[in-house]
Amino acid sequence: MNQTRENKEQTRSLRKSLILDPIHPKDYRELNFTYCCEQCSHFDESTEQCTIGYEASKHRQKDQIKLYELTGRMAFCRFMEID
Ligand code: SF4
Repeated sequence: MNQTRENKEQTRSLRKSLILDPIHPKDYRELNFTYCCEQCSHFDESTEQCTIGYEASKHRQKDQIKLYELTGRMAFCRFMEID
């Protein structure tokens, strides 16, 4: 299997494993809910990494907003923690 095909299959597998939750537009507009790494206790601003080793790129604020605008859904991290 060549590298490109392997990368495509990994990307496809990752997309399948990511759970996207629908959010009602009224809730999105009116509720102050937590949805991204920048709001999480496990996020290190200086390195922009998750301190407990999860893939932060799927839950970053700009990506969550972009995903919501495209699909009406967000990929909430099940390990998010807030102080
Ligand atoms: S636990 Fe989840 S939400 Fe928190 S920093 Fe890590 S990846 Fe982001």
